[in-house]
Amino acid sequence: MNLIKSNINVDDPQPSAAKPKQLKVHNRKIVMSAFQNATPHSIIDISQQTGVSRQTVAKALDHFLKLGIVEICGKGDSTDNGGKKPNIYQLSSVPKFLVVHLHEYYIELFDLNCNLIGRQDLNPLDDSPHDFDYYLNAVRRMADDLFEQHEIDENDLYGVVAITPGPVIDHAFVHRNPFCSEWGFDIPVKEKLEAAFPTAKCVFADNIGKLAGLGSITANLEFCSTKRVVTVYTAKGINGCFFDHGQMIEGSNSIIGEFGHMILKPDYPVSCICGKHGCFESIVKPESIRSRLKQGEDLDSFLSFVQKPLKEIMFDDVVKGFEKGFACCQSELKTLAACFGQAFLNISLVYDPDVFIIEGFFSGFNDAFETELYNYLSDFSLLTPDRYFRIVSDPQPLPKLEVAGAITALKEYFFSDDLLYV
Ligand SMILES: [Zn+2]
Repeated sequence: MNLIKSNINVDDPQPSAAKPKQLKVHNRKIVMSAFQNATPHSIIDISQQTGVSRQTVAKALDHFLKLGIVEICGKGDSTDNGGKKPNIYQLSSVPKFLVVHLHEYYIELFDLNCNLIGRQDLNPLDDSPHDFDYYLNAVRRMADDLFEQHEIDENDLYGVVAITPGPVIDHAFVHRNPFCSEWGFDIPVKEKLEAAFPTAKCVFADNIGKLAGLGSITANLEFCSTKRVVTVYTAKGINGCFFDHGQMIEGSNSIIGEFGHMILKPDYPVSCICGKHGCFESIVKPESIRSRLKQGEDLDSFLSFVQKPLKEIMFDDVVKGFEKGFACCQSELKTLAACFGQAFLNISLVYDPDVFIIEGFFSGFNDAFETELYNYLSDFSLLTPDRYFRIVSDPQPLPKLEVAGAITALKEYFFSDDLLYV
């Protein structure tokens, strides 16, 4: 699935023999592509952005206004020569998207412009989701409440996306939800959601790390569209996503990007949820950080500095402790940076990315972490420092990135509907 790059290539002119109708459809697709970033635009903006003449943009917008998928949302500034204020257009607020968070048990409803309309939470005390069908019934009930509260006709529900940890096969089957083992294996989430929401035109499931990666890439498309990028989702576990010039790379088993299970230290004593020992994520997870910190002589001083018990210490606290000069944090930061350096080097040997974007827990890394990470590479003779990959941070909250990616994916389906253009 090509989720980012539109199949519309504005640099690829239509053959000169194109029929007027084909040309009209082609121009409409180009004009609609201006709305993929959910920003309102004037006719002049769209013309400048797409290279399509203002007159053709205006005709295409008339077509979309009649279809009800574009609306006028206000007036822009008047032109320098005192002309009248131009209309500003945005995607219609009528079609809705439902996002179902399978790991946190809540749902959210958005419009095409990524505005949050409402949220419903499953009360874990009353509604413990014992099996998937039980959970799905609760989702359906919560959605009914949202539709009623916001007076939404269910026929306007365009899409439903389920966001889940664990591998997702064919955007349809959740192999296993690591936070809810009672659900079993290969849960047919897409089929069940389609049955629960029969009027939705587009239903699918995808992995949290992939969607967060898509969210990061969408927000930084200009930067990422010329590069090979690995997004690194760091939370309780680690996974990520590979992009080549803005295009997501996927494999048949959907385990591509599950590099949290790359084995770095086979002798590591603690076993990972995958069944192996010494996986990247099991070495850098918060529990492992805390158990190493315990060995530091200045642990008590560090804990009183951050005013937290050891069981609440996260990577951000280690960074603070490092900056303050606590030896236990200096040692731990070096250990973690070397671990990331080792994992990133291994990934580079098979993918050779230009940049790693770190999201989540580890996105608050400091300069010392970066320096130590590159130190790990220093004795590796196949890479000279001028050719090292870059590491950058995306500090946006993970749920925000996941939803941004989910909406990008849903909009890609929306924009690929040929009926919008004829
Ligand atoms: Zn593992």
